[in-house]
Amino acid sequence: MHEKTIAELSAALAKGECSSVELTQHFLKRIETLDGGLNSFVTVTAEQALAQAKAADDRRARGEAGPLTGVPMAQKDIFCTDGVRTTCGSKMLDNFIAPYDATVVERFKAEGCPMLGKTNMDEFAMGSSNETSFHGPVKNPWDTARVPGGSSGGSAAAVAARLTPSATGTDTGGSIRQPAALCGITGLKPTYGRVSRWGMIAFASSLDQGGPMAATAEDCALLANVMSGFDPRDSTSIERPEEDFTARLNEPLKDLRIGLPREFFGEGLDAGVAKAIEEAIEQYRKLGAEVKEVGLPNSGLSVPAYYVVAPAECSSNLARFDGVRYGYRCENPKDLMDLYTRSRGEGFGAEVKRRIMVGTYALSAGYFDAYYLKAQKIRRLIADDFARAFEEVDVILGPTSPSTAFKLGEKTDDPVTMYLSDIYTIAVNLAGLPGMSIPAGFSDGLPVGLQLIGNYFDEARLLGVAHQYQSVTDWHRRIPEGFA
Ligand code: GLN
Repeated sequence: MHEKTIAELSAALAKGECSSVELTQHFLKRIETLDGGLNSFVTVTAEQALAQAKAADDRRARGEAGPLTGVPMAQKDIFCTDGVRTTCGSKMLDNFIAPYDATVVERFKAEGCPMLGKTNMDEFAMGSSNETSFHGPVKNPWDTARVPGGSSGGSAAAVAARLTPSATGTDTGGSIRQPAALCGITGLKPTYGRVSRWGMIAFASSLDQGGPMAATAEDCALLANVMSGFDPRDSTSIERPEEDFTARLNEPLKDLRIGLPREFFGEGLDAGVAKAIEEAIEQYRKLGAEVKEVGLPNSGLSVPAYYVVAPAECSSNLARFDGVRYGYRCENPKDLMDLYTRSRGEGFGAEVKRRIMVGTYALSAGYFDAYYLKAQKIRRLIADDFARAFEEVDVILGPTSPSTAFKLGEKTDDPVTMYLSDIYTIAVNLAGLPGMSIPAGFSDGLPVGLQLIGNYFDEARLLGVAHQYQSVTDWHRRIPEGFA
């Protein structure tokens, strides 16, 4: 059952070939037997999932099922879940139980998707390897000595190992696409404002965006239909008519113009990754697409600009964790200052502290213009680069990450090297564009991710471009040994 896509599971449920209770039991059993070596789940909500599955079956019997009713899924532990703990990968929130559901969680509940549990992640979504999690690292199911990517590493590993048909992720600088690439699955980061951020614990609010992670583009389209939509509780949510993200899946690629940014194919790109991407480009040519080079001349500034903007916003967002209202509180504080400093000092991990310090510095009086304002100006230049490229092409294609999954511990002592694993993804967040990663082959037995970037609100086309490739390849069907 677990080798089926969501589209197939949905059809099986509709035909009565299986029930949601059976499906849910199957995936819960897989989590129980297979997640020990992966650590992809922080919390498993078996009892609740089975009750939701039963309700989904009843609903189907009444003839009231939606497309995904009864298909189980998992939530990244950054989304607040009513009555179920939400840790955000941090000691700070280890015992935090939200009194409400995030909009995304509410939407999956309304569709009738049983929630199997909450997936592991880098602390407060800061990281590219899932090694900053308070709950310990997640292992990549393709090679358990390697990282799954981050920050949505638990979601990516769980989907790759088919412990769940799908999981949510969030992408501030690449956290859906990079782990999807390293684990050989499909992930979509929608246009900024498509998916509500309400109840999604904030890291860098002008960049954070939730999205789906699953085996295929078709599945991501079905999930995006559930996840996205206007939410008055999120002030940056975009009010647009409801859209069916599956609408363009079968559109032929003849006359599609694909742009290859020359900056994404230069120094620093692993040869094995480059080879797989070149083969995928060839495949797109065969499908009828026209391929040409484009320039994103300011993309080299994306990592430095991001590492000013993201820490600045995080230093402000994370100020709320003060040991007073909720979250971790130190033992026996001597006074208020001691309560603040020790609660934060003991509750946050090293990477989070590094970001808070960098961000506080960048925002301090006298430095604001030199750092934050400058970074915002670069952000504009980067968005303009994309706007120019989209005058010439319909989608932009390149690698998702410069290398395949690296070894656990390989980059933990060198934050800059770690930061560079998002070199091709970050510009997309700075511009607020939609992007996705799809499996495009292997290099030395490890999955390679292909990135597709679209213009604002062009997710349906992007998903179609991905789906057409998946109709003629089977990389997205591969399941790591030991998890088949
Ligand atoms: N890896 C990047 C960072 O550490 C992006 C994380 C994300 O997208 N949440 O900030």
